Order: sequence, then structure tokens, then C-alpha cells
Amino acid sequence: MTRMNGKRHSPSPLLCRKAEREFHINFEGFIRDLGERGYSPVAVRSYGRAAEHFGRWLCENGIRPCRIVPIHLGTFLRSHLPRCRCPNPGGKSICLCRAALGCFIGFLRRSRILPDQPKIQVVLTGADRLIRAFDQHLERVQGLSATTRRARRRYARELLVWRFGKKPLRIRAVLPRDLFRFVNVQARTLKATSLHALAVGLRSFLRFLELTGRIRRGLAYAVPSPASPPPRPPARVLDRPARLRFLRSFNRGTSVGRRNYAIALCLSELALRANELVDLTLNDVDWRSQTVRLRQTKQRRERLLPLPSPVARALAEYLQRGRPAAAHRAIFVRHRAPVGQALHVDGVRHMIRRAFATCGMEAMGPHTLRQAWATAAYRRGTGLKLIADILGHRSLDTTAPYTQVHIEELRQAALPWPRNRA
Ligand SMILES: [Zn+2]
Repeated sequence: MTRMNGKRHSPSPLLCRKAEREFHINFEGFIRDLGERGYSPVAVRSYGRAAEHFGRWLCENGIRPCRIVPIHLGTFLRSHLPRCRCPNPGGKSICLCRAALGCFIGFLRRSRILPDQPKIQVVLTGADRLIRAFDQHLERVQGLSATTRRARRRYARELLVWRFGKKPLRIRAVLPRDLFRFVNVQARTLKATSLHALAVGLRSFLRFLELTGRIRRGLAYAVPSPASPPPRPPARVLDRPARLRFLRSFNRGTSVGRRNYAIALCLSELALRANELVDLTLNDVDWRSQTVRLRQTKQRRERLLPLPSPVARALAEYLQRGRPAAAHRAIFVRHRAPVGQALHVDGVRHMIRRAFATCGMEAMGPHTLRQAWATAAYRRGTGLKLIADILGHRSLDTTAPYTQVHIEELRQAALPWPRNRA
């Protein structure tokens, strides 16, 4: 008899035996799955013991594997583990058990024993509906990227919460002085760059409200303009010898080294953003025409880039002699457990920073390689417009800082001022 959800109940012995039998079959599958996904023997053992402990507890409560719901995990982790008196329970660390049970539930879902996570029905408030409409406008009409839209949604919500709290939303009651006060309150905690972005975001939200007839015209002009943020310090320049030293530092004798070298070359020769790199799939490379197609770019426009031979060779070498078998089409995948899963953008950042540190240079992120490519292309005489196209920038203003255009260089390039002969 066990206490579950505050109620006492004793499951029938028949149900317990059925649960035990089903759990046993799934447990063996789970251990096999961990091994196949590249988990180390130590991890397989400790995750297995945690899953076995959870399974025993489920069986005692007559819960079959197909009947597991999130509350069972919570009760096991928070109520059972701290008071566990089971004989030989395995690890009792909550962190380890949470990780292990996350994997176990994932396995049950992949094996179709548990249904996919049900969509939670959320009751939307007036503010939620308004912000959802604003987001759709930003996406469908303005074509903004997910990152920009997320920031704009946040600013709009902060304004609504500050102005209305839990009271009903009366958007027409927003006055110019409210906007002035709101920006002033935010100015106490925000840095100049964030404050500038807040003002831009608020104006965008107010213009959307105007456009859809929710407020009177002109309120967007009432958002105060904070002082411009100070100019960014010039980006660190990576010259050609340093770039070559960095690229030569990868150990291409191992499969991970071949993967990391191909990544570094893609960042450095194709000037990709880290998230564009992790989104690359096997279908995006056209070996015959030596091109690579970027589908999920920040500007939501497809870009077709030429694939230089050294990059194509590094990619082919990785695909033939490095990439582990994976169920999906991402080019760059994990070589450690869970093996074969698409590489995450943070993994790429971390790897590049570590590679810079290994060759005795200041640890810099993937963006440095993109910037180094732009600077080198500009110095070779490539036009700013072409560089902007390759980098996927909409505006040349965004591209100019990448090319490290120094004022002294501009001064030398400028035409001599005509002298007044009179
Ligand atoms: Zn226990």
C-alpha cells in the first residue's frame, strides 16, 4: 500500500504482476537503446539502475509503463526518493534520476508505448491574444526572424503588464505619458543598447495597434528616444596566418577532428552563422554543381552559396570517414551520447572557442571566422554588396562593420579635394 497523490490505494496483485512483466520487457529494450545511442557503460549502468528503481516503484503502485504520466515522475523524484527505504535502490541523486528517467520516458515515447507529449490546453488572456496577433503580423507582414519577434513580444508584454497588471486590457487607455513613464522606469535597469531596442520594439507594437485600428494614430511618436548606444568596440581581427594556424590545429586523424575541421572550414570559408551551420542537412549540398543551400537563415530568405573545393573535400571526408550513422539528415551530429543527434549551436560555439584556446589564441566564437572572411574579401577588392549577399545581410549598414573599414583606409581611398584655383 503506497501513498500516491495524497490518497492511499492498494493495487490488485494481478495488476502489479502485469505491470512488472511489461516493465521487464521495456527495461531490457531501454538498456539496449542506451548502448546503441553511444552512452558509456558507466552511464548505461547508472541510468539502468535508476530506471529499474522507478520501475519497481511503478509496479508496487500497479502502474503499467503505458500509463505513466508526468505526475508519477514528480512524485517519484520529490516524494519517494528523499524517503526511499527500498532495498538496493541504486543511485538516489535527484539529478541523476531525473536525467535517467528523462531518457527512459523518451525511449517509451520512441517505442510508441507512451503517446507523444499531449498539447497542453492553455486559456489565453486578452493580452496573450493581442501579442499572438502582433507576432503573426511581424512574421507574415514584416517577415521578421524568430529571434527579433521574441524580443518584440517580450517588450509588448512588459508594457501591458506594467500598465494593466491583472486588470482588464483597455488598450485605448494607454496615453503618451504612460509610454514616457514606462521607458523611464526601464531606463533605471537597462543598458543603453537594450533601452534602444526596447524603444524600437514599443514603436513597432504601437504601429501594429494603430494599423489594426486598436488605438488612435500617432501614439508611436510618443515613445521617447533614448540616447544612442555607444559605438561598439572594433571587432578583433583574425589575420590570415592566425586563421591558417587555427585551421591546422585540428587533428584530422580522428572522426571528431574531421567533423570539427569541416565545421571550422564551413564557418571560415562560407562565412556561415553558427545556427545556419547546424541547420545544414545532407539535402542542402549539391555535389555536382558544388553549391550549398541555406534554408533557415536569420533573414528568412534562402541563400545559395558556392562550395569551394577545400570545404567540399573536408565535408566529404567527414561524411565518409567520420559521421556516425544517424536517423536524420543533419550533416553535423554528436559523436558522444546521444550519438547521432544533430549538433546544437552551443556545442559549435564551445568547440570553436576551445580550438582557439588550444592553439594559444584568445578564445573567440564562430562569429570571428565570419568576420575574418568578410574582412579578407573586402581587402581583396570584393564589393560591399556582394559581401552583404554572401553574409545574408539585408542592409549594407550591417555589413560595413564586418569588413573592418578603417577611417584611415577610407581617407586614402577618397578623391583629392579640388583646389580652388581662383
Ligand atoms: Zn525506493
